[in-house]
Amino acid sequence: MSAIDELITELARLPGIGRKTAQRLTFHLLQQPPETVGRLASALVAVAERVRPCRECGNLTEDQPCAICADPRRDATVLCVVEDASAVALVDRATDFKGRYHVLGGRLSPLDGVGPESLRLDRLVNRVRDSGVREVILATNPSMEGEVTATYIQQLLAGQPVRVTRLARGLPMGGDLEYVDGVTLAHALVARQDVG
Ligand SMILES: [Zn+2]
Repeated sequence: MSAIDELITELARLPGIGRKTAQRLTFHLLQQPPETVGRLASALVAVAERVRPCRECGNLTEDQPCAICADPRRDATVLCVVEDASAVALVDRATDFKGRYHVLGGRLSPLDGVGPESLRLDRLVNRVRDSGVREVILATNPSMEGEVTATYIQQLLAGQPVRVTRLARGLPMGGDLEYVDGVTLAHALVARQDVG
């Protein structure tokens, strides 16, 4: 495969980028000075080498633990459970949540072969048991898989002395938290409901 074809193929693997856009990006890059392309390449290598999941919460970070887990002003007894690290930034930006997070690293999706063992659920149960957690806020995506995942965790934590809440209903179903506007997300967090 030629270098050009290889780049187009790699770019086309990215979410939201079809083959046409990948071609357009590739030809755009080919018209840039080599330094510009070099900076992009180093930035890609740098994130791949330096960014790792936080050992506490699973958030993506260059430091261990991440800045949120390391911040003593954040309430370690309230955990907001999200599917992906991208949702941490989203919830943190849109709301005034001052607790900590737990990143599952996906959602239950039996059809895609994603079972409970693929998610960071053991670690969640351990955190709840060992760190004096008072409340777990289930902030999985408003989709079928997100609902199934939230229900599973709710059952997993049943019997633990912890309040379990879920983001308020009314978020547009079938989507990703990413597509929910900040005001709606902030409201859904404030109006969260007890589920267990
Ligand atoms: Zn962390």
